[in-house]
Amino acid sequence: MANFPVKRLRRLRYNPTLRNMIRETSLTSNDLIYPLFVVPGQKVKKEVRSMPGVFQMSVDVIAEECKEIENLGIPAIILFGIPDYKDEVGSGAYDPNGIIQMALRAIKKAAKNLLVITDVCLCEYTSHGHCGILNGDKILNDETVELLVKESISHAEAGADIIAPSDMMDGRIGAIRQGLDEKGFIETPILSYAVKYASGYYGPFRDAAESAPAFGDRRSHQMDCANALEALREAEADIEEGADMIMVKPAGAYLDILWRVKEKFGMPTAAYQVSGEYAMIKAAGINNWIDEERVMIESLTAIKRAGADMILTYFAKDVVKYLKKQS
Ligand SMILES: [Zn+2]
Repeated sequence: MANFPVKRLRRLRYNPTLRNMIRETSLTSNDLIYPLFVVPGQKVKKEVRSMPGVFQMSVDVIAEECKEIENLGIPAIILFGIPDYKDEVGSGAYDPNGIIQMALRAIKKAAKNLLVITDVCLCEYTSHGHCGILNGDKILNDETVELLVKESISHAEAGADIIAPSDMMDGRIGAIRQGLDEKGFIETPILSYAVKYASGYYGPFRDAAESAPAFGDRRSHQMDCANALEALREAEADIEEGADMIMVKPAGAYLDILWRVKEKFGMPTAAYQVSGEYAMIKAAGINNWIDEERVMIESLTAIKRAGADMILTYFAKDVVKYLKKQS
């Protein structure tokens, strides 16, 4: 009995230095994409009620913020716009002087090395809050895609480095690729929200982006949370149409999907730790029900372990500060 048990997996866990040496997954600042919300006006910095630490910012404030983000070593941001006017066809989305276009020009001046990704959808810009043009209560697919192409080109013209369509219309990646190429933006990559579920975890985002639909929901274009094989078909379609990178959204409750998508396609893959995931960790942290920093790192490490090369997270700045403390 003296030599029992032969295998002692704990041997590698006693010494913290050794634990660091054999760690399989490490977060780095290069994994992070920081989502930002831009609003009309000047000197506006308004905290989102359901997302402590997340702010809506006007163009001038966001440009300053981006300098700080660049200095912290966060490589990329993704921009969401709240326009000063909304209409049936979301014209604010492809207005050369729209909110995103103005923000892009200001950010590109203020933070030259920061990669700026723009979210492409119509829901923030339509008076009804839906992701496309409506006929009655139905979202018209192909008519919407035409506008998404216009929006993408307009973003690229204003300086966007990467275009990220989040609308989940069929055929939009191919159409956007063609539209960008025809305008000479052959080098602008597309990060497709390829696998996006209709999710209750988006709740706080709709406060931040003021994009809640006036009626109905998004289940006619976003995926059913019960489906996994369908996620592979969605990813495959976008890759065939020319997506350079793909995304799974939300992240935390869909780690199995992330894993399957990464295993099957081996594409550069992003995962979005969405507003509800952030809000739950924050709220529990504020109440001292959990150790917020620890759960933040654990949740993001799990997302990376499941296959994400890039993580969109509202914790990006906190993570970088944490990593600096560790080194
Ligand atoms: Zn949308």
